[in-house]
Amino acid sequence: MQYFLVGLVVLLVIAMVALLIIYLKIKKVNDKLHKQQLENEIQRNKLEEANKELEQAKNHAEKVSGYKSEFLANISHAIRTPLNAITGYIYLVQKQLDPDNANTYIHNVLVASENLGVIVNDLLDISKIEAGKMVIEKTNFNPMSIVTQAISTLKGMAEEKNIALELHLDPLVPDHLVGDPYRLSQILINLINNAIKFSANGQEVSINMEFELQNKECLLKIGVADKGIGIEEQVLETIFESFSQVSNSIARNQTGTGMGLAIVKRLVELQEGSIAVESEPGVGSKFKFQIPYEVCELDEGNVKGVAFYDNDEETNKGISVLLVEDNEINQELAIDTINSWGLPFKIEVANNGLEALELIEKHTYQIILMDIMMPIMDGHETTIRIRQTLEGEKSHIPIIGMTAHAFTEERKTALENGMNAYITKPFNPEELKQKMLSFVSK
Ligand code: ADP
Repeated sequence: MQYFLVGLVVLLVIAMVALLIIYLKIKKVNDKLHKQQLENEIQRNKLEEANKELEQAKNHAEKVSGYKSEFLANISHAIRTPLNAITGYIYLVQKQLDPDNANTYIHNVLVASENLGVIVNDLLDISKIEAGKMVIEKTNFNPMSIVTQAISTLKGMAEEKNIALELHLDPLVPDHLVGDPYRLSQILINLINNAIKFSANGQEVSINMEFELQNKECLLKIGVADKGIGIEEQVLETIFESFSQVSNSIARNQTGTGMGLAIVKRLVELQEGSIAVESEPGVGSKFKFQIPYEVCELDEGNVKGVAFYDNDEETNKGISVLLVEDNEINQELAIDTINSWGLPFKIEVANNGLEALELIEKHTYQIILMDIMMPIMDGHETTIRIRQTLEGEKSHIPIIGMTAHAFTEERKTALENGMNAYITKPFNPEELKQKMLSFVSK
């Protein structure tokens, strides 16, 4: 009996151990299964996440491609509109249907051509930026004169809508900074132009410029504020995107291609700066940007050949200008434009660089307008010779380069060769006037 009991206990123990082993095995399999399940779950989440990202990327791509096609539709519309006006009015002028209307027709042609020029320049800029080919210059400049020049460029447009352009300058902004004045001017003109465009008649636009000194760097802070139609909140998010024109801008009866602010943002960022906008529909908008510049130590020796006049006798004698240009139509256009200002500029013409050098030897000029591509001797070579081979005052005459090349490299070469300023053709008469006046007024 005893043996039987012992046997039973042993059997029970064996059975329990067997059960325990079976249990442990099942548990192990279960744990493995559970682990597998967890892994599957993680895998599924990851897959879902990847799907979500893919979906987002697809939506974004669709959105961008939507922007692009919308942009292409807008841009071709924008290009065709001024082209239509140009060809139409030129046709009417040629037909002389009503000579009394010729002036209006020509004015309309001018406005349309300017609009076309802006579009072509914007297209060039955006493609240069997207290709990473936009070069930021480093040159000495006076920020105040850039702001005042930008305002004077847009004064006419503001006056047409009876809009006051108010400038608030921090008097402590340094006179001499090192950076890219052309890009600063481009940013300002874009923002002020929009502020005027989207303001109602009689409102005001204010521009303010402050600065902050941060370890030898000057942080230029500029704000352009208007009290115009403002921008809706959801639109503000995409306002700086390329190709995103606020869709109802056409309904707002405004022209534009939607490239301006995209270019502005890229230009600010290329200069290590930042831009932001605050806006409320019906109340107005404020665009604020800041760019860090090096503060320049003024070296008088850098300022080459500035001819001053005092508004008295000198004015009566006139300011002699030498126009170096081979193309006859361009000669006439420059002469007629300059004469139309009613300023005391007296223009003589040289048909190429060699003729220019001969004239400069014999006469005194206070400004030279220099085309770049010319037969016999081009503008670069002529400038180098003026700076290096002529003597005294003659070697310092201010030279303004004029060329149809819009590339920055060309301007860089021109300035390195000794030109003092540079203007691209088709030139903006107001810009040419400001540049010429900057060399004759004190
Ligand atoms: P556009 O050439 O169309 O003016 P922008 O990139 O300069 O292109 O501006 C994009 C859009 O942003 C404009 O069409 C306009 O609807 C809106 N916008 C820009 N600036 C202002 C402003 N100051 N006030 C109201 N809307 C503005």
